[in-house]
Amino acid sequence: MLKESIRLAAREGAERIIESLTQRVREVDSRVNAYVQFDPKKIQRSQTKGPLAGVPVSVKDNICTRGWETTCASKILEGFIPPYDATVVEKLRQAGATIFGKCNMDEFAFGSSCETSAYGPTRNPWDLNRVPGGSSGGSAAAVAAGEAVAALGSDTGGSIRLPAAFCGVVGLKPTYGRVSRYGLVAFGSSFDQIGPITKTVEDSALLMNVIAGHDERDSTSADLPVPDYTKALGRGVKGLRIGLPREFFVKGLDPEIEKSVREAARIYQKMGAVIKEVNLPHTKYSVAVYYIVAVAEASSNLGRFDGVQYGFRAAHGNLRDLYFETRDQGFGEEAKRRILLGTFVLSAGYYEAYYLKGQKVRTLIREDYTKAFDEVDLLLTPVSPTPPFKLGEKLTDPLTMYLSDIFTISVNLAGVPAMALPSGFTKSGLPIGMQLIARPFQEETIFQAAHAYEQETKWFKQNPKL
Ligand code: GLN
Repeated sequence: MLKESIRLAAREGAERIIESLTQRVREVDSRVNAYVQFDPKKIQRSQTKGPLAGVPVSVKDNICTRGWETTCASKILEGFIPPYDATVVEKLRQAGATIFGKCNMDEFAFGSSCETSAYGPTRNPWDLNRVPGGSSGGSAAAVAAGEAVAALGSDTGGSIRLPAAFCGVVGLKPTYGRVSRYGLVAFGSSFDQIGPITKTVEDSALLMNVIAGHDERDSTSADLPVPDYTKALGRGVKGLRIGLPREFFVKGLDPEIEKSVREAARIYQKMGAVIKEVNLPHTKYSVAVYYIVAVAEASSNLGRFDGVQYGFRAAHGNLRDLYFETRDQGFGEEAKRRILLGTFVLSAGYYEAYYLKGQKVRTLIREDYTKAFDEVDLLLTPVSPTPPFKLGEKLTDPLTMYLSDIFTISVNLAGVPAMALPSGFTKSGLPIGMQLIARPFQEETIFQAAHAYEQETKWFKQNPKL
């Protein structure tokens, strides 16, 4: 019997739950490939009696874990075992949680399909011929497949929310600064946030209670008190103003997804929320701006992987060759594309035309959100323009792949919090997700509305047949 929620797992006790999860991983992970590292011998039971006592949590492989290899699913970090825990991992352990395994991802979190991993793609538990979404595809697939109680992912441009939607689970990208990034291998430092991927909204709140908060080791983490997020559950949505941004319901949006999200709006209205249409006029620039600013930050962050300090080192004659060979052999194709693009947009002569301009448009996108939140408390949108696509379908066409992020990326540009949660299934049985977006540091409003909808619809009761 699978114990999928944090409360059930805690009641079951660490021993039994770890045993049954281990059994499940043995049964299905050769097909799903959600884990890049899973070794029951490595699992250290936490002895702490905190709020997560006995609860196993799986962690995306770009989050540093003492004693566990942390590779970002890249060959260049092969064999790298960090000497320290990321702050979120430290907090999990202090709360009594047990680190259960490291989850597969797109290499360095570059991707929307979990296919660029050096360890092979993760597959969608609902249809093994389809992608789980990316980049936190391993974390979302593990939770959906019953191979994890809960997991951490990271979201730079949709990487928690897209896989959560594709796998039919709940994924929260917190406000930029809500959760410490210390020990998260940096991709786009002004975008990256760690967040929970869980079966239920309550589990998401329980994890946020533990991982959120100020950290003096991350100067961008906000020094604000952390509320008890579970208090927001059960408040209902009476009087809550929910906006549907017109720019998110456009040509190209899959009709079944549109129907599902509009139906969710009707359900909210029935429960007492006020629904109105709003505008986010600069949305159409978000993919272009993101793929300038985020790759610029990525190219700079990836400079440190040179074969000297971390992981893989190529055979070499001299220092220059060592750098060249290590980076040539260590990075995959998409990582190289980002490094080249990022270096280009930052280079003298192009900086003003691309990077600087991108930053200016980013400000306009952020202002769109500020204005929309003068009118409403929450925004309701689709997560992805399409249901989960087939493996290989978009891999050779980067632009089409990047367009999968069209509804998630502006949230990271603005730094606001957003959650993806299940909103039904397509006729062919694939999960559909919807997105709730709130004002900065108003995760509570998201939890409040997400929980109300979840309790009304109970999509989480359905599980993939593996
Ligand atoms: N798909 C986006 C990208 O490839 C998102 C990545 C992320 O959020 N880590 O950049």
